Amino acid sequence: MDLAFKETDSEVERRRMSLELDAREQMAFTTSYLKDYSEPLLVVSESRLRNNARRFKAAMPRVRPHFAVKANPHPELLRIFKEEGLCFEIASIAELDAMIELGADLDTVFYSNPIKSPASVKRAAAAGIKWYVVDTPEEVEKIARIKPDAKLYLRIEVSNEGSVFPLTRKFGAKPSGIPAVIDAAKSNGMALTGVTFHVGSQCNNIANWTKGINAVKDVFTQLEHNGWTPELLNIGGGYPLLLSADDPTIEEIGMSINEELKSIPDSVQIMGEPGRFLVGSAGCLVTQVIGLATRDEQRWVYLDTGFYGGLMEMAESFPLKIISERTGEPHLWTLAGPTCDSIDVLGEHSLPSNTEVEDILYIPNLGAYSTSCACDFNGFPVPEMVVVA
Ligand SMILES: *Cc1c(COP(=O)(O)O)cnc(C)c1O
Repeated sequence: MDLAFKETDSEVERRRMSLELDAREQMAFTTSYLKDYSEPLLVVSESRLRNNARRFKAAMPRVRPHFAVKANPHPELLRIFKEEGLCFEIASIAELDAMIELGADLDTVFYSNPIKSPASVKRAAAAGIKWYVVDTPEEVEKIARIKPDAKLYLRIEVSNEGSVFPLTRKFGAKPSGIPAVIDAAKSNGMALTGVTFHVGSQCNNIANWTKGINAVKDVFTQLEHNGWTPELLNIGGGYPLLLSADDPTIEEIGMSINEELKSIPDSVQIMGEPGRFLVGSAGCLVTQVIGLATRDEQRWVYLDTGFYGGLMEMAESFPLKIISERTGEPHLWTLAGPTCDSIDVLGEHSLPSNTEVEDILYIPNLGAYSTSCACDFNGFPVPEMVVVA
């Protein structure tokens, strides 16, 4: 018993150290690119992108990865993932255009946004996109009018418990809503032969995937009762970055998923839609301290980028670590961005107590949902992104 505790403790310690090392490594590839600091910058490592793609494939050999383009649509990054043999998942006309520009195999580009504008369905149909997600009878009717020979996959609601950014409520048919989608597809003579779910982004709860796969098996039975042969299982995105010693690795998640997939027949194509996992740990944002203040006895640090400039998720208490080049006693500062908007506050973070204006700070694990979610509000430019070796 004692020994078991000891092993667990040392395993947690080992994981903590490896997280620390990984963050330092991200800082190192960023500093080696950076000469003189002028503006905030997102530095993305090509070797890390490739390594993440390979790790995902090795962890889940039966799951064909389709990169969720919204996580980071930078053309160079898309090119690298295409070279690695990844497929893609899109949600808009601009993302479709990026696929055409990239020369991606459009047969394997999946349109996974449950609510698509009629104009975007027309564009996708004209481009030859085959697969479209649905989770309402209304969406089935919309697609039936524009592309009656589309292949449909049904997005069902599954547990998002333990995910940092849950996605239920907005999307996903509940069990009581599934028959209406089936009826709409049937009465329009369409092929509803796939099922998908999304466990929520940065999901640290492996059971969400295994429960999701089980729920899909029931829906497959319903599809069969209605005369279709199920041919697609799409287990979605949500695979997390390692931000704390408790977070499961992609290999641990893969082991549970692979086990659950054993009962899915070989005739079913299995795919996933990783976004954050593939790019998050490949990107490090570098920013500079532009001002200090004491307000109500709390110390504040103001940065040259913030909520609008690539740090949107930090405002939602995403547990990112910030590294300073300065050493000093750690202190809990309130972090804020440069705009005049009160939303531009990024919570409390530990930084050296002797932090000064013009200090350079590094924020690792920001390859996903950073600059892709940014705008130049108030005249502060979106940080440039560069890809380094
Ligand atoms: C955003 C999204 C993904 C990717 O999610 P991650 O949490 O980044 O892995 C996958 N599929 C769909 C439909 C999405 O909307």
